[in-house]
Amino acid sequence: MILYNLLCFRGHAFEGWFTSIAAYDEQAEGGKLFCPICNSRKVGKAPMAPALATSMSQCERVVAETPVRTQEIPQQLPDELRKMRQFVTGLRTYVEQNAEYVGRKFPDEARKIHYGESEERHIYGEASLQEAADLVEEGIDLAPLPPDLNETN
Ligand SMILES: [Zn+2]
Repeated sequence: MILYNLLCFRGHAFEGWFTSIAAYDEQAEGGKLFCPICNSRKVGKAPMAPALATSMSQCERVVAETPVRTQEIPQQLPDELRKMRQFVTGLRTYVEQNAEYVGRKFPDEARKIHYGESEERHIYGEASLQEAADLVEEGIDLAPLPPDLNETN
């Protein structure tokens, strides 16, 4: 086995083990070498300069035949976040268009509706955690309303 200190064109230093000098040449020419830090395939043998010694010994990863496809994960994330944002915004819009805003009277009004003292309808408003817990305990259905994502503060 031969250990080579390798360097990608972005300057990441790492180590690669090869069965022989010919094996290194084969992998290098076949484009199978890549940087474990940035996946770049522009990789070559690092010049033997003392200044590079520290960063080389810090890197424990070796070159493998198959690159880890880490780049697929970040591409999915924004899409998921966008869908979640659409869902949350949609839910809030639905509530605002279909329910009556009662503000701080929410706990009282929810109770009145529940006990048939007030007209049955969808309402939304504000309640403290304790008030919300009390309502749930009395068997009144309620759900936290997602924050308005379009508000900036
Ligand atoms: Zn790199």
